[in-house]
Amino acid sequence: MTTTEIKISKKLEEGIEFSCQMCGNCCTGFNEGEVYLYKEDILRLAKFLNIKGKNGLRTFAEKYVKVINDSFFWKESGTQRGKTYRFKTLGFKFTGEDEHCHFLKKNRCSVHVARPFQCRSFPFWQMMVSSRKNFENYTKKCEGLQFLKGTYYSREEILNWAKEEYQIEKNYFLEMKEHNFDILKVYPFLSKKMLQE
Ligand code: SF4
Ligand code: SF4
Repeated sequence: MTTTEIKISKKLEEGIEFSCQMCGNCCTGFNEGEVYLYKEDILRLAKFLNIKGKNGLRTFAEKYVKVINDSFFWKESGTQRGKTYRFKTLGFKFTGEDEHCHFLKKNRCSVHVARPFQCRSFPFWQMMVSSRKNFENYTKKCEGLQFLKGTYYSREEILNWAKEEYQIEKNYFLEMKEHNFDILKVYPFLSKKMLQE
């Protein structure tokens, strides 16, 4: 994500109706993408799954989490030009030939109330909110976006989801920056082995 000025595509200007049709398609086929995990996501999942302490988190991470690449555009105040920083973050590992999320059971999310922000904020990610093309691409996969009925989301609500996503990413970036982009300092429960996988 690169900017706080989140644009909204014409398609969403008037808001939309959306309800998940539980097709499970967004939890499968991750050869095309990632489910990013931030600290709040991991703590929420750990609480839900009754995982305790550093050792519990390490076991959980080794089974379900991988270290992936991330980037963030940042301009220091008082400077004219910013730059894109590249660093590591966390995401779910996937399983099976169809690359599905470990927590997808019988086509349902088994951690629904504790699912990561990325899952709960779909389909109002910044890259979808601001791009008609991305929105249309995801529509091919998502039965809820084909149906377009259910709860009404106004322009403002849609933008709020995208802004919250930006804020979560920004908070993580600033924490990483403060720790010289050493992910082991931000997530001390990770093993060094995970960084090499
Ligand atoms: S946590 Fe749940 S909603 Fe998110 S990808 Fe996994 S199964 Fe799908
Ligand atoms: S692809 Fe759309 S309809 Fe299917 S589970 Fe995901 S959000 Fe729900």
